[in-house]
Amino acid sequence: AEEQLRQSQKMEAVGQLTGGLAHDFNNLLTGITGSLELLQMRMRQGRTAELDRFIVAAQQSADRAAALTHRLLAFSRRQTLDPKPTDVASLMAGVAELITRAIGPAIALEMASVQDLWSTLVDPNQLENALLNLCINARDAMPDGGRIMIQAENIFLDGRAAGPRDMPPGQYVSLSVTDTGTGMSPEVIERAFDPFFTTKPMGQGTGLGLSMIYGFVRQSGGQVRIHSEVGRGTTVRLYLPRHAQAAEAAARRSGVAVASRA
Ligand code: ADP
Repeated sequence: AEEQLRQSQKMEAVGQLTGGLAHDFNNLLTGITGSLELLQMRMRQGRTAELDRFIVAAQQSADRAAALTHRLLAFSRRQTLDPKPTDVASLMAGVAELITRAIGPAIALEMASVQDLWSTLVDPNQLENALLNLCINARDAMPDGGRIMIQAENIFLDGRAAGPRDMPPGQYVSLSVTDTGTGMSPEVIERAFDPFFTTKPMGQGTGLGLSMIYGFVRQSGGQVRIHSEVGRGTTVRLYLPRHAQAAEAAARRSGVAVASRA
């Protein structure tokens, strides 16, 4: 509860500080207008061969500016969630292409999910954002390329068996993103969920990715865990609670099957 209070105070502080991000945003806009100006100049000079570069640069800046506004909006809305029964496996498939584009060709993407993956009750848009964010963090940790594995499985915590001891017993869908990157030191892991904590160069990291993911997952009744080893890589695992109604329906269905066989 103390940890939760600490976290909510931080979230509060973030809400007040988001104005500071206007600076980052302005830099991105400068990237866009600068590229567009160059584009216009070269077009007037009839030098069309090199124009692609400016278009790509403008697009990249615009994409990052858009991502930043989405994050800001999510905060100003106090991350109002719209939870729906969500099939994590099809959500993964749905964002695969977006992720592939975001991580670039030097990084291999693998996805795996168990056959009978349980349904979860989460906001699917926020979960997509979270997954994309985790993959971008993984990409940033692998400047020389590597591998990202996204895995989904069912986890039953009975309060005795293995698993995080401080987690309430129950049924969860585990969604993990593993990379073969730089890894994180214990000091970085300790602060990773803090809003605005970033080790990335100015203008590249906002330090909001993991804190937003933490906020969203905790609000959804789940947990986030980081396992990381410097020089080997990182796994960030989201424990998303199983959609209880789906669980009941499945139990009913199996009950009907038994009755019809009798
Ligand atoms: P940002 O990505 O903008 O820095 P985050 O909150 O997403 O903000 O991450 C905070 C910090 O945690 C990063 O700056 C980085 O140092 C560390 N981090 C997050 N994910 C990874 C990862 N997969 N591998 C190594 N370090 C990571």
